[in-house]
Amino acid sequence: MKPYLREKKSFAFEDIPEDTCFEAGYLVTVNSGWRSRTPQIDNEKCIGCGQCYLYCPDGVIAMDGKTPVIDYDFCKGCGICAKICPKSAIELR
Ligand code: SF4
Ligand code: SF4
Repeated sequence: MKPYLREKKSFAFEDIPEDTCFEAGYLVTVNSGWRSRTPQIDNEKCIGCGQCYLYCPDGVIAMDGKTPVIDYDFCKGCGICAKICPKSAIELR
């Protein structure tokens, strides 16, 4: 088990997380409490292109077939998904 990076004085290259899902539960904590805006997907407008899935910096959008699904436990409300959506199918509320 790798320790928190912030608890280490020095670390090797292989200690650095490869992605945002590095050992979920250690570096990743539920952050929905500090989100001030919530993205809502309009499935009528969505064409299932997956751009929101690809661009979400926290990797919290999963594709269920052609349908994007947001994990609101970890979405921080940054709005990048709404900005990148070519169909304006995501609205921040
Ligand atoms: S608001 Fe930000 S963190 Fe939340 S799903 Fe969209 S891109 Fe990801
Ligand atoms: S970027 Fe927009 S159109 Fe593409 S999958 Fe996401 S919500 Fe749907």
